[in-house]
Amino acid sequence: MSIDERTETETIPGVVAAIRHAFQSGTTRPFEWRKRQLDGLLRVLEEGGDQLVTAMQADFGKPTVEAHATDIAFTVTEVKHIRKNFEKWAEPRKAKLRLKDKPGSGVIHPEPLGVSLVIAPWNYPVQLLLAPMAASLAAGNAVIAKPSELTPETSRVVSQLLRAHLDPEAVAVIEGGVDASTVLLEQRFDHIFFTGSTAVGKVVARAAAEHLTPTVLELGGKSPAIVTPDADVDIAAHRMAWGKFLNAGQTCIAPDYVLVDRARKDELVDALVSTIGEFYGDDATRSDDFTQVVNDRHVARLEGLLDGHGGTVVCGGAVNAQTRKLAPTIIVDPDPDSPLMQEEIFGPILPILVVDSIDEAVAFVNGRDKPLALYVFSTNTADAEQIVAETSSGGVCVNHTLFHITPPELPFGGVGPSGQGRYHGKSGFDELSNMKPVLTKPTKPEISMMYPPYTGLKSKVLKKLV
Ligand code: NAD
Repeated sequence: MSIDERTETETIPGVVAAIRHAFQSGTTRPFEWRKRQLDGLLRVLEEGGDQLVTAMQADFGKPTVEAHATDIAFTVTEVKHIRKNFEKWAEPRKAKLRLKDKPGSGVIHPEPLGVSLVIAPWNYPVQLLLAPMAASLAAGNAVIAKPSELTPETSRVVSQLLRAHLDPEAVAVIEGGVDASTVLLEQRFDHIFFTGSTAVGKVVARAAAEHLTPTVLELGGKSPAIVTPDADVDIAAHRMAWGKFLNAGQTCIAPDYVLVDRARKDELVDALVSTIGEFYGDDATRSDDFTQVVNDRHVARLEGLLDGHGGTVVCGGAVNAQTRKLAPTIIVDPDPDSPLMQEEIFGPILPILVVDSIDEAVAFVNGRDKPLALYVFSTNTADAEQIVAETSSGGVCVNHTLFHITPPELPFGGVGPSGQGRYHGKSGFDELSNMKPVLTKPTKPEISMMYPPYTGLKSKVLKKLV
């Protein structure tokens, strides 16, 4: 623990108490305050965008175009959508009552939960910190945000910008690693929004249970891509290679492995290999358009996955220690029980397994944890529909990768071990609100028949009515 981090952890309970005081004094409720915070987030992204992109490059060599698209522009769109619509979402929602519940009126009042904690991972270090913050602030909550320590330069810059542009009375940023997270999780929050690994998600869920705090857990896992007999293989190869090797595979919803119909395997492998060359040239580990692995620990982890998988390495497999880049790697027919096929890869390695039918592909997916994303490449609507109907995953994208997270109208999240709770657009606002139902009855008529004692005719009528 650094001296700075120690100072932070020692003051965490004090920071949480101050932020709670701000929430309890009503600071965060007015729409005007919420708008100012969302405008503050937009200034962080728009005025601080170049600084943030430079920081992400310093941390893990993220190409400027990708950093701008995935962390800045994506988040700007999300914050603007929330800024434009949250007042409408915050309005009381009238419920239609059944005749037997009348006379009376039913209304759902979205109200802020209180103090929310946002813990972010390092791989999209701006987007995954600011997008949950936007949902939380729009819902009228006070927020404590913790960026990832694995991207220290981005953590420093984003924290500085957030402190400069948001209300410090009700929004705090705590930098640090596991120590800071652990002390934070000992405190009582009204909501915890965690994005990260399934293993740490369990740590967060256990800590939250202590205070019965509701959580959103945006986790990881192995997201399959299924290539059916009728797939447009060239399109599938381009779109899969893009979604897999963007951020060097360090994307929660990257296709983790491919299940391809036997008849299309060779064609797909050839198309993937040539697409990798098209994208990154002869040596991706020297390409500025290809991201670094975040640190040496993760390089060693990925090298471990390259051992003992029992498959054939068709391309890649080499690590350039100088650039900390692992060449895009395709492995055909690995052992389904090897660590490569058991653990989330979270790096630029794409295993390809052959199946003989849609049923076999479905059974393979259903025999494992429910994934965060599932991709189907098919021009046969019936096949695509069968896969969607017979598998369960956080989300599905047919004939592309990653894009299902971009429309704010589509909720994003996992299921089972890949997560719980959803956000993006209105779904995030709803998740960070207490949807409080209020039933209002007139004082007349008074139905005294329902009160005890339940005697004679009264009990007969009541039994009928109930
Ligand atoms: P991680 O779980 O190691 O860390 C995430 C956050 O938790 C960091 O801020 C870290 O400081 C904190 N943390 C780490 N260990 C902790 C502990 N023991 N106790 C308390 N806090 C702790 O994840 P990561 O390496 O930053 O990110 C990669 C993982 O995140 C992958 O599994 C990926 O699939 C997943 N992910 C999911 C999504 C999603 O939206 N579902 C998005 C991005 C990443």
